Amino acid sequence: MPSTSTASVEGFGDHCFKGAVAKKYLSKYGETDKLLTDVSWPSQPGKADIVAKAVLDWAVDNGASVYCHWFQPMASSGVRHGLSAQVHQTMFEFDKDGKPFFKFTGEALLQGETDGSSYPNGGMRATHRAGGYLSIDPLSPIFLREDTVFIPAAFVSYNGDALDEKTPLHRAVEAMSKEGTRLLKLLGYEVDGLINNIGLEQEIFLVPRHAFYRRPDLQFTGRTIMGKASARGQEMSDHYMAPISRATTAFDCMRQIQMECFKVGIPLKTRHREVAPNQYEFAPLFGNVINQTDQNLMVMQIIEEVASENGLAALLQEKPFAGINGSGKHNNWSIGTTDGVNLLNPKQINAASKNAEIFPIIMAAIVSAIDKHGDLMRLAIASPGNDFRLGAMEAPPAVISTYLGDDMTNYLMAFMDSGNVEAYVPSKKKLAFGANSISEIEVPAEDRNRTSPFPYGGARFEFRAAGSSQNVSLINTVLNTITAEAFAIVADRIEAGETPTAVAQDLLKAHSKVIFNGNGYDPEWPDTAVEKGIWRIDSGVEAIKKFTDSKNTELFEKMGVFTPRECEARRAILLDHYIGTVEMEALTMVDMINQHVIPSCKKAELGFVKKLEDAVKTLTKAVDEMHAAADEAEAASLARVLRLDTMIKIREVCDEAEGLCPPSLWTLASYSELLFLD
Ligand code: ADP
Ligand code: MG
Repeated sequence: MPSTSTASVEGFGDHCFKGAVAKKYLSKYGETDKLLTDVSWPSQPGKADIVAKAVLDWAVDNGASVYCHWFQPMASSGVRHGLSAQVHQTMFEFDKDGKPFFKFTGEALLQGETDGSSYPNGGMRATHRAGGYLSIDPLSPIFLREDTVFIPAAFVSYNGDALDEKTPLHRAVEAMSKEGTRLLKLLGYEVDGLINNIGLEQEIFLVPRHAFYRRPDLQFTGRTIMGKASARGQEMSDHYMAPISRATTAFDCMRQIQMECFKVGIPLKTRHREVAPNQYEFAPLFGNVINQTDQNLMVMQIIEEVASENGLAALLQEKPFAGINGSGKHNNWSIGTTDGVNLLNPKQINAASKNAEIFPIIMAAIVSAIDKHGDLMRLAIASPGNDFRLGAMEAPPAVISTYLGDDMTNYLMAFMDSGNVEAYVPSKKKLAFGANSISEIEVPAEDRNRTSPFPYGGARFEFRAAGSSQNVSLINTVLNTITAEAFAIVADRIEAGETPTAVAQDLLKAHSKVIFNGNGYDPEWPDTAVEKGIWRIDSGVEAIKKFTDSKNTELFEKMGVFTPRECEARRAILLDHYIGTVEMEALTMVDMINQHVIPSCKKAELGFVKKLEDAVKTLTKAVDEMHAAADEAEAASLARVLRLDTMIKIREVCDEAEGLCPPSLWTLASYSELLFLD
């Protein structure tokens, strides 16, 4: 029986212009919401004016009188305030008497032009040329918050170079769709197109806001640069999925975040406490990658806003605290037809295509893509915060392998050896609880694997190494581009006369080395992986530098995702972002030592002062050396040493001093205050 209560779902999506909401307003102008499901509506004559009128009516009914094109400047990770950009414009004009009247045209809806000069562009624009051009993204619905209508948009330069995260993602999905559709047709399965679906599990910390304000490092950089571990951490495993605290405002905050998301049509389904103290997670129902990526940016913004209204501070950074788990954002990834057949779900694809060969061919193509382009997957997760997570026993190591499970691996290996095509049917088993009163249940024969960066989980891959603060566009741009190339290679070979099975067998022979079903946290694994020839890049900075390797620029160019110039620009921007992050951290550390640690040590008569004064000199010198570096590649390499070597050693001195200092004389908020106030 469906529940009769609608209390918790009432108002879901009221502030999102799609489905029934859009239908209600479009019907006045002789259209339905179907109009919006055809992505070509912006170029159909007269339609934009109709949509603009309907949007205006809806806006006015909901108290909004302002709109903006909402876009995503490059290299967005780790910063606060939602990682997105917007310039608000009124939806009214003034008559000759100066009286305002509502007006919103199709032209204003479709496109915008803005001064993009203060955004990083990696040399793609001469300094004196500032234009940035915006065009509506029909795959991501318009939504409304407070008095403002948000129109998701893509952002390029005057020459059409992508200046944002969204444009390349569209290009990559289109490449995957084009090559995948071509391949499926060769395999006798005609489809209109393919899409990529993702679901993003978002981890965060919620800490008391008053304590947050007593941490310049959290305020400026999102992570604690120093701080003695409290006597209790996560060793009791008593935080994971525990009741959400009511002693603090965390429970109210989580609920309110969910309700705010519901209003704008974001289906946040799951909420729970995570492993570390004060760590939480939200996950939505999965959906189209373009829409989900936008929604995740809004989720991050809403989390920060609602937390501050509840006397909390939300930390989205990957590693806010040393010694306890950091935060990730699992990027669950699948591809399917536009009619909803998931290519990674063997049952669905076999039933829809009536060709059991398709599934192993798709899997072989994806396995080959991971093996060839693990460097790009590593690059895509090289957010500064991930420096502290990968390989630290809380996230997979910096080795890009895939877990398929024994069941699937045996199936693919048998196919590789024999060339015989049988439908893959995942085995199941009965699970007994050993008590008569508890009935046994049926489960997949395969257990989960949490130590692989990219495990297959039945109908999707899960990129588990993504960072919590990342805009996941680049991640999915890479996944779709490398898949597109693999599909193109298989399709080309079939067109050249090889049998599909032979091509897939060949790919598996060459690339199945990247399948690893063991324990990714095993300290021996990274070395073994290198011996096998699997990509391992420990340093995020080194990974970023690979953006312009010829293998990669050629791939991106061939798939129409990035021109070599755009690769060059992105590499520079990602390196600059890293350098900027480390510089802020080092300067914050200098201030914290001078303004807090040294005065506390003096008052408590602890003997650290000389060491700390030397540390400040070391930090200042290192920042100067970064500035003097020949180019951003050299500066980023220096920054990495400063961050992961010099600053960690200096931190040890600060933490030792904190351990000896009476709390009344220590002026920074301690880990206990930040993590154990409930
Ligand atoms: P777990 O923590 O067990 O991995 P969660 O339920 O927390 O699972 O999150 C799983 C995420 O994966 C959700 O966002 C879910 O909607 C998403 N997901 C499930 N199936 C698919 C799929 N076929 N393609 C993409 N994402 C999926
Ligand atoms: Mg997961």
